[in-house]
Amino acid sequence: MKLIENFDIDLESIVNMVIQEKATKVGLQLPEGFKRQAMEIAGYIEDNTDAETLISGNPCYGACDLDVQLIKDTDLVFHFGHSRLEPSENVVYIEAPSHLDISDVVFQAADKLKGKRVGLLTTVQHVHKLEEVRKILEEKGFETIIGEGDGRIVHPGQVLGCNFSAAYDITCEEYLYIGGGKFHPLGIALSTGKPVLCANPFTSSIEHIDLKQIMKKRYAAIAKTMEKKKFCILVSTKPGQERMELARNIRDIAREKGKEAYIVTMDLITPDQLLQFQADAYVNTACPRIAIDEAGRFPAPMLTPPEFEIILGIREWEELVFDEIRE
Ligand code: SF4
Repeated sequence: MKLIENFDIDLESIVNMVIQEKATKVGLQLPEGFKRQAMEIAGYIEDNTDAETLISGNPCYGACDLDVQLIKDTDLVFHFGHSRLEPSENVVYIEAPSHLDISDVVFQAADKLKGKRVGLLTTVQHVHKLEEVRKILEEKGFETIIGEGDGRIVHPGQVLGCNFSAAYDITCEEYLYIGGGKFHPLGIALSTGKPVLCANPFTSSIEHIDLKQIMKKRYAAIAKTMEKKKFCILVSTKPGQERMELARNIRDIAREKGKEAYIVTMDLITPDQLLQFQADAYVNTACPRIAIDEAGRFPAPMLTPPEFEIILGIREWEELVFDEIRE
């Protein structure tokens, strides 16, 4: 078994799939952090099979982001680092779980958890470690719950930046999120209204999620846009991000309310691509992270659909939620 450094990627089983499927052209799609391993993987496949490999150089932020042209150009595509969102023919998802030890941060978290019933959540990278987390916490007297999630979620307890459904079907007093970054735990806190303790195994740090700062920024973006007239409603053409029905719906409501609103479709949404439209504000129906993570980089305020609904007067301020793509 040949494994890629730091991740459980079994190259022999990939080679066996290529041989079994009699694939002559193999596509590889990797997220940014994995791209440095792309040539090693391609080389291993080419050395051990008769197949030619094609590596996608396009950005890849999630399983929503399948390289459609690569799928057309090859017999079999290996998509690394994400779990599947929807079944796609000829695409094999290689999840690449992390080897990182999580026990230290979980022991630290156990001292900070206040609730008795704790919901466990993480990303696909660490989801295979949730049983270990459960064992540690239950030995310390906690009750742990792991939710199933909806059809976009493959593993119990898994969250995506656009889907916190694994947090919805469980009853608990508090959540423990294992993983790096703030976006997922912020989304869990805002979607559920419950406390979230974030245990980051990359930095060995523990932090209670505080929504004040992000809410202040979001409220400011909404307030700034309240009286604006001209909106571009952005729809991504990426297979797992496209929400045309939602876009049409909010466009029509906006027009009824006297706003000018037009749908703009694009693959990757970047500040440069929006410059020429001269809109007063943008409404992003694509990956929900764009409006939050990249706020301030766009030429005008970038809102989520629930935020736009506040502007249109069909949602109350106190009903503001994180945007999610649910099934
Ligand atoms: S839409 Fe965004 S958050 Fe959801 S899977 Fe794609 S990249 Fe991740």
